[in-house]
Amino acid sequence: MNYTGVREAEVVVVGAGQAGLAAAFHLRRVGYEPNRDFVVLDHAPRPGGAWQFRWPTLTYGKVHGMHALPGMELTGADPDRPSAEVIGAYFETYERTFGLRVHRPVDVRAVRDGSDGRLLVESSEGTYATRALINATGTWDRPFWPRFPGQGGFRGRQLHSSQYRRPQDFAGQRVIVVGGGTSAVQQLLEIAEAAAATTWVTRRPPVFREGPFDEQQGRAAVARVEERVRRGLPPQSVVSVTGLPMTEAMRRARERGVLERLPLFDRLTGTGAVWADGRTVEADTILYATGFRAAVDHLAPLKLREPGGGIRMEGTRTVRDPRVHLVGYGPSASTIGANRAGRAAVRDIRRLLGEGAREGSGASTAEAFRPVSR
Ligand SMILES: Cc1cc2nc3c(=O)[nH]c(=O)nc-3n(C[C@H](O)[C@H](O)[C@H](O)COP(=O)(O)OP(=O)(O)OC[C@H]3O[C@@H](n4cnc5c(N)ncnc54)[C@H](O)[C@@H]3O)c2cc1C
Repeated sequence: MNYTGVREAEVVVVGAGQAGLAAAFHLRRVGYEPNRDFVVLDHAPRPGGAWQFRWPTLTYGKVHGMHALPGMELTGADPDRPSAEVIGAYFETYERTFGLRVHRPVDVRAVRDGSDGRLLVESSEGTYATRALINATGTWDRPFWPRFPGQGGFRGRQLHSSQYRRPQDFAGQRVIVVGGGTSAVQQLLEIAEAAAATTWVTRRPPVFREGPFDEQQGRAAVARVEERVRRGLPPQSVVSVTGLPMTEAMRRARERGVLERLPLFDRLTGTGAVWADGRTVEADTILYATGFRAAVDHLAPLKLREPGGGIRMEGTRTVRDPRVHLVGYGPSASTIGANRAGRAAVRDIRRLLGEGAREGSGASTAEAFRPVSR
């Protein structure tokens, strides 16, 4: 069927972060041509995925376990430069080298079922009809804000870790940091250097991990998230399965008492927080380092969610719609996981579309795939 005014692409990739670029790389590797057979749509202004928005004090040296994209190493980066700059520049070179032709800024608003077995991807540059969708939209666009009684009446500032920029913004203030993940700890440590006082609040007692996270532990962590996703439950946070890696800076902060933690407060007042046992802490600012949720609202018309609230998956494919792949979601929400998921999704889509290597490309193996020259 021909849709008037609708562009066609065999595959649409939504999102050009680690997961979307890895998928686009593998599409090209097996002979799909960008802008002919597939398109990559991203609503951010620049290359870099969510990295471009990360706070300037998150230097490249502080990023733990960043895996390079397939086919091109990231070498010689200055560990003192913001990771937003380092990874933004690396992604830009990557897109250019492999000719991935990302369309940006293009916002995907909804994906619907078309009438001829294809999906309709509605975006700010028009609608695409496609046979397969690789959704790689990450989580950055959906920061999670917990709700507390009295929150609306708090007279100080409340912000999410995604809005954090630098410790100087908290100079002389009393700050409550909520959350038990890596971002919470990194921001807490920085803020403690500038603030008048900090209070760290977490839902569960944090589990600190000494020593490196080895491959076996990595596999076990991924398997636990996979198991949840297979059962149709929302994926849990990474830190809940990996623990917090103890760094030298954290050891020093622990000695100074910065990492002494309180359980979650019961409610907020105009001037601070109150616990069930009557404890109160006065605060000027509350920082919620409470993580993110998958940014998949545009997939709502496809009704992929299970009663458990999650999207049931088999590998990268959603069980309710085999045309839809989620990469960088749940068990693949890490740089290494995103790489693997991008590859797996492309393999699966070729099977779905019943194709070998694309005609005329001759590029069916990694060895045959070369960066494009422009
Ligand atoms: C602070 C922080 C530090 C981290 N550090 C590490 C680390 O050290 N190592 C590691 O392995 N992982 C780390 N992670 C996890 C990290 O997010 C993933 O590893 C990976 O970078 C995510 O890649 P992605 O492609 O899935 O998502 P993103 O990088 O978020 O890319 C998603 C892209 O989709 C686009 N998009 C979203 N919605 C739409 C839409 N509707 N229409 C069009 N475009 C859309 C966005 O513009 C974005 O470019 C970190 C996460 C955070 C929050």
